[in-house]
Amino acid sequence: METFEVSTRSRTEMIDVTRQVADCVRKTGAADGVCTVWVPHTTAAVTVNEGADPSVRRDVLDTLNKLVPFEADYRHAEGNSAAHIKSSLVGVSLSIPVANGSLLMGTWQSVFFCEFDGPRRRKVHVTVAK
Ligand code: ZN
Repeated sequence: METFEVSTRSRTEMIDVTRQVADCVRKTGAADGVCTVWVPHTTAAVTVNEGADPSVRRDVLDTLNKLVPFEADYRHAEGNSAAHIKSSLVGVSLSIPVANGSLLMGTWQSVFFCEFDGPRRRKVHVTVAK
């Protein structure tokens, strides 16, 4: 297993971590298999979406923030229920095919770490199974 860290700067943020994930896959030495990207947090997530136009990630975040407002009739005393809900909606893991040691990503696809309760220092775990 390989692990990398992400330092987030905003309350909600999507950070392109495609290069870090690809570096982890390279370090495992695996040629072919399935890469699992796992976020060990309850107020963050990971997703694949367009990386070319930064407006896409802004639209995704703006829409999530509208769908799940920061303040509502939540019961969780920590006050970050919106972040917990967004984490479950987006999900904490990805499966990406690996071929010839590379991620089998589409031209416009990037892997994004999603921060929903930042700023914080976060971890991302990467494994490759045959
Ligand atoms: Zn909480």
